[in-house]
Amino acid sequence: MAVTILVVEDEPAIRSLIEVNLRRAGYAVALAADANEAQRIVNETLPALVLLDWMLPGISGIEYARRLRRDARTKTLPIIMLTAKSEERDKVDALEGGADDYVTKPFSARELMARIKALLRRNAPHTTDDLIKIGDLLLDPVSHRVSALDETVNLGPTEFRLLHFFMAHPERVHSRTQLLDRIWGDGVYVEERTVDVHIRRLRAALEPTKCDDMIQTVRGTGYRFSASGR
Ligand code: CA
Repeated sequence: MAVTILVVEDEPAIRSLIEVNLRRAGYAVALAADANEAQRIVNETLPALVLLDWMLPGISGIEYARRLRRDARTKTLPIIMLTAKSEERDKVDALEGGADDYVTKPFSARELMARIKALLRRNAPHTTDDLIKIGDLLLDPVSHRVSALDETVNLGPTEFRLLHFFMAHPERVHSRTQLLDRIWGDGVYVEERTVDVHIRRLRAALEPTKCDDMIQTVRGTGYRFSASGR
């Protein structure tokens, strides 16, 4: 599944040059000519990384980076700022504005791709291989085994990832959007309903062990995994 890079650049020639290079490198690409268009894309599906031009019509790139940082959903979205400015002060402004990295125009495609790769690697979701035990439920990320009181629980790959995420972040409410972003990955478009389907499957699989109560529906908000049950 290709990860999506969002390119926010008002100059068509530069935008398509970047697009060609990204596609060649195996990324999926979303294109926006200004911040408003970019935000519409981000609302629909979170990209893995944003290439953001500094000089944009309307809302500037640096102002848009600040907005992304203020929103809980996009607070940690990796941002590389593109700019014709090359003074040290501008670089500091870009980084303080919320960009993770900074590339000065004109840039070589190879350099840009290397920066993207490095930033994506730095931001890869942190998963540990530690055994997790909550209540009667035991999850082993290495062997992909789940058990409760020595009974094996058989789960599909999505249900396993869902349970792993829940058990790694217990007692917290997760919205469907957050679960989509974290379980299905950045840049993948899945309907919110899909989350409910997999929650149902997960509960059904846990039901014989009586651990299904640990997955709680939080009305109007999302789901929570709780050791205390219902
Ligand atoms: Ca521009």
